[in-house]
Amino acid sequence: MKKRFMVIALVSIGAIWMMAREGRNVESKREGGSVMKTDAEWKEQLSPEQYRILREKATEHPGTGEYLNHQTEGTYLCAGCGNALFVSETKYESGCGWPAFTAPIEKNSVEEVEDRSHGMVRKEILCSKCGGHLGHVFNDGPEPTGLRYCINSGALGFESVKSGVSKESREALATFGGGCFWCVEAGFEMLDGVKEVVSGYAGGSTKNPTYEQVCSKTTGHAEVVQIRFDPAVISYRKLLDMFFRMHDPTTPNRQGADVGSQYRSIILYHDAEQKQEAEDVIKELADEKVFEDQIVTEVTAFQKFYEAEKYHQNYFRQNSKQPYCQMVIKPKLKKLGLR
Ligand SMILES: [Zn+2]
Repeated sequence: MKKRFMVIALVSIGAIWMMAREGRNVESKREGGSVMKTDAEWKEQLSPEQYRILREKATEHPGTGEYLNHQTEGTYLCAGCGNALFVSETKYESGCGWPAFTAPIEKNSVEEVEDRSHGMVRKEILCSKCGGHLGHVFNDGPEPTGLRYCINSGALGFESVKSGVSKESREALATFGGGCFWCVEAGFEMLDGVKEVVSGYAGGSTKNPTYEQVCSKTTGHAEVVQIRFDPAVISYRKLLDMFFRMHDPTTPNRQGADVGSQYRSIILYHDAEQKQEAEDVIKELADEKVFEDQIVTEVTAFQKFYEAEKYHQNYFRQNSKQPYCQMVIKPKLKKLGLR
């Protein structure tokens, strides 16, 4: 960590706290209203495959989708807007080559429209919040509904029960990369309203990467933490403020002595509101010249989180006598007034 950054960071803490106190309430912004975006905005947010399916009504090749044989307990979300669509209990093996469900999570979480394309009359299924194309529904499903919601994996995201989002229990996810995840995890774990912080990898392309692969810089992934939090207690905005207090967002692919693209500063937003708030905070920090150098933090749509190996979790608490934690992590936490 650069000395001048530390000085600037200390001076700026007061200013950031003022901003945090005025932070908007995430919960109230989520209520009501459908998600409306331009094609250009969708293109920027979605992967090319997601865009083809959700916005251009394409169908992924049968037998290829990420969630076809996926059996983890949890909730399937719209990849466009994060709307909760299906729960794992209603998923079944239909043999059709796409993920199949017997019912949506709630009646009004999807919309049905008649689709007369390809010389057939089918019922197309759309996300009720953003209008994204999901797939079709057929009358050949099993009990209890007799319906088969045949859905493209590419239109879906997934939250496991363990680290998942549930509107009822007022939980949300945030994913940040700010250098070594041991340090970032330790900082976030001390905040009220933060229920769980898991270290892992995201933002790259390799499936199920190992720590060694990520360190070899060939996966594109960054070391990140995924934070499960209660938005009624702590807002996403406050997490963003904490994030920018905990690391140096001005050093490309580097945090202090840790050098490499896996240490890049990155915010992986889970919905449009998070994207907006991240961009707003970066603009405010830049306008107020909180950092001497330009903020290089990458703001990108969350795709998939790979939990890091067990020995990385709670590294600070389990290894607080290790030299790395003494030298790097403790000073950082002290700086933040948490220890
Ligand atoms: Zn949607």
